Amino acid sequence: MYIILLGAPGAGKGTQAVTLAQNLKLVHIATGDLFRQALEQGTVLGEKARSYMEKGMLVPDEVTIQMVLERISAPDCQSGIMLDGFPRNLEQARALDDALDKQGEAIDTVVYIKVPEEELLKRLSGRWICRNCQTPYHAVDSPPRVAGKCDRCGGELYQRTDDNVETVKKRLDVYFTETAPLINHYSRVGKLLEIDGKGSVDTVSQRILDALPDGKFVTR
Ligand code: AMP
Repeated sequence: MYIILLGAPGAGKGTQAVTLAQNLKLVHIATGDLFRQALEQGTVLGEKARSYMEKGMLVPDEVTIQMVLERISAPDCQSGIMLDGFPRNLEQARALDDALDKQGEAIDTVVYIKVPEEELLKRLSGRWICRNCQTPYHAVDSPPRVAGKCDRCGGELYQRTDDNVETVKKRLDVYFTETAPLINHYSRVGKLLEIDGKGSVDTVSQRILDALPDGKFVTR
């Protein structure tokens, strides 16, 4: 089973992906997390990605596509994956389709989490994330009970370096010019499932689970 989570930065893809991947027994692959890990570990991949991430730009396709195709060909991905943050443009979508096609597979559903632009800006500025379980908090709207600690698991909360106002604006620009065309792309082939991304994390999770076709997501 191959699912893509599509949506703007701040739409809640990462948060939803963690819960959904657990529910549906899929391997969660988040390209942003893979790049951040590579950066922390100081690998060649991390160095290639660094300047693009700092500016809120997309890491070049040849680097990103190779990283994802390697990851999805690993044995643990055979029973299904949930892609979060990939593809982010048409080139990446085509490369993914071709690679899956060669394995006799195809994307089943693209879950598009839709959130109004003004809400995205508000969510991203003031966002704190749990380093351990990725639960997001907001300094004003949904602060943790204890400052700096995750309510769910006690993990340390941190702010992403690319969540500053200038980089957030760039990331949203990039999303609207390069990634948003994927909405039409997947809608045309009948794979798009549009979900209202407003409301609590649990509300949105339930909307997604209710909207997924019955029986289709029984894992192999
Ligand atoms: P994210 O955590 O998904 O918001 O991604 C953080 C950053 O990683 C992005 O702003 C890009 O610089 C880079 N990145 C993540 N996914 C991709 C992708 N599919 N293509 C290119 N760059 C990406």
